[in-house]
Amino acid sequence: MEYKNNFISFEGIDGSGKSTIVSLLVERMEEKGVKIYKTRDPIRDKNPWYELYDLFEHSQRVDKFSEALLLLSSRVDNVNRFIKPELNKGSIIIADRFSDSWFAYQSLRLEKFFGSSKKSLDYLIDLHNSLIEEGVLINPDKTFLFKINPEIAFERIKRKSKISKYEKLNFLKKVLEQYEIISDRFNERIDLIDTEGKSIEEVYETVFSKIN
Ligand code: ADP
Repeated sequence: MEYKNNFISFEGIDGSGKSTIVSLLVERMEEKGVKIYKTRDPIRDKNPWYELYDLFEHSQRVDKFSEALLLLSSRVDNVNRFIKPELNKGSIIIADRFSDSWFAYQSLRLEKFFGSSKKSLDYLIDLHNSLIEEGVLINPDKTFLFKINPEIAFERIKRKSKISKYEKLNFLKKVLEQYEIISDRFNERIDLIDTEGKSIEEVYETVFSKIN
């Protein structure tokens, strides 16, 4: 089935403002009567994935490769149990992160295993594409990638009470570089939004005008 243009994802390093804009967008579109299904990656609010939230966000207990596959598995589950049925009902899917986050963050986590972040990124994209071909996964129709100086993002993150294992300045700088490679590779789908010096309302307006 074709679900053209009904699946939008938001990407960017931690602290780039994704969740803020996703919440605003969902609220305002619902006010207009648009049927929205809001989700995130990894899925957190559905059984059994919320039990793995701490593992995904904070713990280093599990082997990195295994964790990357668990994250992929959670996305497959989200797509098949929730996203596809919602698309069939005519909902617009708004995802706070999706496969591009997995490419960016996990390619760095698996860098040593593959010998370079280029090789790990290629591997993850190939694996993802094989699941797309089987219809087990789907790609967003449009992705907004928020670009921001990692130092500014990090200042915002520091105000939070609990920081995830990824939220370290040097790591976020590398994630941004990975995102840049990914956005070049998927430049038809990914729309770069420069959020530097822009207020929340200004970022929202930029995104909203593109969706309209
Ligand atoms: P993310 O989901 O990308 O990690 P959040 O949406 O949680 O980021 O935003 C992190 C913090 O930055 C929040 O406190 C939010 O209010 C603030 N913030 C988001 N966008 C902006 C912006 N354009 N200007 C200033 N502060 C922002």
